[in-house]
Amino acid sequence: MSTRSAAPQAVSAWPDLSHLRPSDLPQERRVVGPVPGPASQALAERRARSVAAGVASTLPVYVARAGGGVIVDVDGNSFVDLASGIAVTSVGNAAPGVVDAVAAQAADFTHTCFMVAPYEEYVAVCEALARLTPGDHAKRTVLVNSGAEAVENAVKVARRATGRDAVVVLDHAYHGRTNLTMAMTAKAMPYKTGFGPFAGEVYRVPASYPLREPVPITGEQAAARAVAVLEKQVGADQVACVVVEPVLGEGGFVVPAPGFLPALERWCREHGVLLVADEVQTGFARTGAMFACDHEGVVPDLVAMAKGIAGGLPLGAVTGRAELMDAVHLGGLGGTFGGNPLACAAALAAVEAYERDDLAAAARRIEELVTSRLRDVATRARQVGEVRGRGAMLAIELVRPGTLEPDPAEAARVARACAQEGVLVLTCGTYGNVVRLLPPLVIGEDLLRDGLDVLERALLGLPVPV
Ligand SMILES: *Cc1c(COP(=O)(O)O)cnc(C)c1O
Repeated sequence: MSTRSAAPQAVSAWPDLSHLRPSDLPQERRVVGPVPGPASQALAERRARSVAAGVASTLPVYVARAGGGVIVDVDGNSFVDLASGIAVTSVGNAAPGVVDAVAAQAADFTHTCFMVAPYEEYVAVCEALARLTPGDHAKRTVLVNSGAEAVENAVKVARRATGRDAVVVLDHAYHGRTNLTMAMTAKAMPYKTGFGPFAGEVYRVPASYPLREPVPITGEQAAARAVAVLEKQVGADQVACVVVEPVLGEGGFVVPAPGFLPALERWCREHGVLLVADEVQTGFARTGAMFACDHEGVVPDLVAMAKGIAGGLPLGAVTGRAELMDAVHLGGLGGTFGGNPLACAAALAAVEAYERDDLAAAARRIEELVTSRLRDVATRARQVGEVRGRGAMLAIELVRPGTLEPDPAEAARVARACAQEGVLVLTCGTYGNVVRLLPPLVIGEDLLRDGLDVLERALLGLPVPV
C-alpha cells in the first residue's frame, strides 16, 4: 500500500448523481442518420403550417425523451444536452424525484388557484425560498409562472414599497418579453424590434463587461460609472430599484468585475433604493452557489427567480424583505396559475435535490473540467476571445482573430456543427457571438467530456468522427 499526499490542486471526485437520471435512458451521444432525420422533417412541415413563424428553435429535431445529460429525438438520435432547456432542467430532465412528486400531486388535485382555495405546497415553496435566498432577514414570497412575471412583480413591489417610479437596468440586460420587461431588456433584435411603445420610467446604465472595457477598470469604478449616469439622468431620489443580473445571461454570460455588485449594493442602501437581483438564469446552484449573489456576499432586497426552480415545470417567484413585500395591499399580487400545485410539488422535489445532492458543488466540478478544457482549446482556436463564466454557466466569446470584433457567424457555425454531431449548445450575447454551455448539473463526466471533444473539434474546424 502506498500513501501519497494530496496534490495542492487536487480536484474533487465527480459526484455520483445517477439517481437523478432516468435509469432506462442510455447516457450516450448517438447520431443514427441525418440531422434532422425523416420523422423530425415531417414534424417540421406540420409545424410550418400551424406554429407561428416568430417562434424559433435551436435544434432542428423534435424530442421524444430526455433525462440526465441527453435529449433523444423522434428519429433515435441522442444529443448531449449542454443547454438544460436554458438553465431550467439543472436537476436533470424527467428527474425521477420530480416525476414522482408531480404524478402524486396530479392524482390529488391539479389546480384550485391559490387565490381561491390555498394549499400547503405553495406555502412550503415560500418557506424553502426564504431559507435558500441570500440573507437571514424575515422574508415573504409570491409565486408566479415565469421569469418575466417574476421581474414584473419585483418592480411592482419596489414601486409600491418606495413610492418611487424609476427602474434602473444595466446595458446588455435581459429581463423577459412582456411589455415592461421588453423595456428593461437591452437588445432590440429579436426581443423588441417592432413591439413598442414600451413601458416608461426605465433607465439604462453601463454594466461591467471586463473584456470590452476600453481601459481596464475595477468593479468599484464600473459601479461608480453606472451611478454617475443614473444620478445625473434620473436622480437617486426618483429611483425605486436597480435591477441586476449578477451574471449577465442572454447578454453574453458576462461576469462583472469583482466589487461591482457590492458597490451597487452599498449605493442602493445609502439612497433608499432597492436592489433587485434577477437570478432567473443564475439561481439554483447554476453558478456554483445557490444564488450568484452569494459569491460576493451581496444581499438583494428582492430576488426574482424562475428557470431552475422546478425541474422543468413553469414556476417563478419573488422573494424579498418582509416589510417590502408586505407593503403591497391585499389582492395586489397574484394570478390564476401562479404557484400551480404541480409546479410547487416539482419545486419541492428539485429543492431537495439541490440541497441533498449539493448540486452547487457539482456545478463547481463542471466549471473545473470545462474551463481547463476550453482554456486549452483557446490556445489553438484563434477566434476564441475569452473563456468565462461561473459554475455550470460557461461561455466562449468569439471574435475575429487578433481583434475584439464580434464574430456572430462563427458562433452560429460552431453551434450548427455541434448539433450535426449530436451536441446541443446555445448562443447568446448582445453581439450574438457567444457560445454558451448550460449542462444539467447531473450530467455524467464521460458524457460531458465527449460533448467537449465535439465542441473542440467544431472550434478547430476539424471533422468529428461519429
Ligand atoms: C430567461 C430570463 C428571464 C425571463 O424568463 P421567462 O421565464 O422566459 O419569462 C428573465 N431574466 C433572466 C435573467 C432570464 O435569463
